[in-house]
Amino acid sequence: MFDYYEELGMSRIELLERIQEKVSPSRFQHMLRVEKTAIDLAKRFAGNIYSASLAGILHDYAKDLSDEEFLQLIDKYHLDPELKSWGNAVWHGKVGFLKVKEDFGLDNNEVLHAIQVHTVGTEEMALLDKILFVADYIEPGRDFPGVDEARELAEESLDAAVAFEAMRTIEYLTNQHQPIYPQTLETYNAYLPGLFHYREKLSDHKKSRN
Ligand code: GDP
Ligand code: FE
Ligand code: FE
Repeated sequence: MFDYYEELGMSRIELLERIQEKVSPSRFQHMLRVEKTAIDLAKRFAGNIYSASLAGILHDYAKDLSDEEFLQLIDKYHLDPELKSWGNAVWHGKVGFLKVKEDFGLDNNEVLHAIQVHTVGTEEMALLDKILFVADYIEPGRDFPGVDEARELAEESLDAAVAFEAMRTIEYLTNQHQPIYPQTLETYNAYLPGLFHYREKLSDHKKSRN
């Protein structure tokens, strides 16, 4: 783990204290687990471990802001007013990354972008975007049907894991009769071919063993 974050001009201890002031204890523990999982994925897929650490530890920093605060921030940051018709699930990433930038003076666009898209993904995700998106879904505290398949996919292919997560999220949201943010559908459409490709590879592999 890193003792000091040069870009923040801050020790890890100070960083963790600042985060703990803003989020619930259980949320904080989730952010630590996502950090660890993101670092593991960065090692597996040759990503930047330092960026994975920062993105993981900070990704839900804005999660416990009130709806009023988010609505004010959308105006303050001159974001598309259409965002106001969504809610915390979408705001904590799409608005929250700018709160991280402001509160920590963080200027690392790679990390900020990963936080921005960590809930909904995007069509062309950078390596760190995928690492955070997937780490958030498979961290060891997650327990829901399909999480083990997501973990297995993430052993082999980040793209396939991204597709699987987008697919399952959309299934879940439609079952709950919740609206789908269009960017979530874009992520699904963009990464689905990779999932088919990967599953074909898996079944070829099984056939060749028979
Ligand atoms: P968390 O912040 O660690 O709980 O995880 P996420 O940031 O991935 O997701 C937060 C919530 O957003 C979850 O409950 C998801 O089901 C929800 N979510 C993800 N995509 C969408 C979407 O397109 N629309 C809506 N309404 N909710 C979404
Ligand atoms: Fe989140
Ligand atoms: Fe999270």
